[in-house]
Amino acid sequence: MSIVNGLISAIGNTPLIRINSLSEETGCEILGKAEFMNPGGSVKDRAALWMVQEAEKDGSLKPGGTVVEGTAGNTGIGLAHVCNNRGYKTIIYMPDNQSQEKVDLLRTLGAEVRVVPTVPYADDENFQKQAGRFAATLDNAIWANQFDNTANSLSHYESTGPEIWSQTDGGVDVFTCSVGTGGTLAGTSAYLKEKNPDIKIVLADPMGSALYNWVTTGEAVMTPGPSMTEGIGNSRVTQNLATATIDEAVQVDDQEMVNMVYRLLHQEGWFFGSSSGINLGAAVKIAKELGPGHTIVTILCDDGGKYQSRLYNPAFLAERDLAVPSFA
Ligand code: PMP
Repeated sequence: MSIVNGLISAIGNTPLIRINSLSEETGCEILGKAEFMNPGGSVKDRAALWMVQEAEKDGSLKPGGTVVEGTAGNTGIGLAHVCNNRGYKTIIYMPDNQSQEKVDLLRTLGAEVRVVPTVPYADDENFQKQAGRFAATLDNAIWANQFDNTANSLSHYESTGPEIWSQTDGGVDVFTCSVGTGGTLAGTSAYLKEKNPDIKIVLADPMGSALYNWVTTGEAVMTPGPSMTEGIGNSRVTQNLATATIDEAVQVDDQEMVNMVYRLLHQEGWFFGSSSGINLGAAVKIAKELGPGHTIVTILCDDGGKYQSRLYNPAFLAERDLAVPSFA
């Protein structure tokens, strides 16, 4: 019998997929954790579930309660699924520079969405800070606070890390992924380093983020950008990321990311979102640096469905001076 018992049990335990063309090209095993196969379609379902469960355990969220979060996408989607399943209300604060599709999707899932003016993190009216303040005014409500709530990285320490270790029979040499909150990188790498400290942890960063410089120089200074990627890169080191042991960082620019996702779509049939493209671009760079014979694991964070009007829209790419790769 291999029956999964309901939605909560369907989160995690995703396949680890060999990306054949990249593995053959590099002589390394390039393996991607298929997080797009979670019920909410992304790596953030795990964090959403753990943040809700930890709040239930510490008593801050009781039956019939409300989860408030500031999020532009996948975390809100994950929370809406988990909250519907557990009988909670979801309220999402989102900046007004996000696509209408995301607002519509969250509303379809049953979340109340509050679109607020886009202002920097330092501003008190920033969407994350508004979410925190609003949650504090409600009874029986939590602010999920994915950036600094370490239930997020705990989800990957307790699920993603052990899954990768067992799916590779302990044979993983490198783990690499990009960082939004840092939950995935920090939690997964903490587990893997505990099992084998020689596993190399590599942060993959898009342009227009401060994390490449943070890893390589110790100073969180932004690189020139912006990048068209969504959900990754950061100007600051979050509580989730702060304790991570990271060996190296690589940068992948938007053209490399576009080339990667178009190539994998047209040559192999995969339909990935932009952060998966950054992650696979980083995996190939590391494979070329280390040479053949290594096992490199990364994250396939979500699929291309949410990115049709941008990443998969040649007119949008042209506006950003990005070439559309052609595959005859
Ligand atoms: N990829 C996508 C598509 C995401 O939505 C996110 C989360 N913002 C990430 C990657 C990064 O994951 P994490 O927050 O665990 O660093």
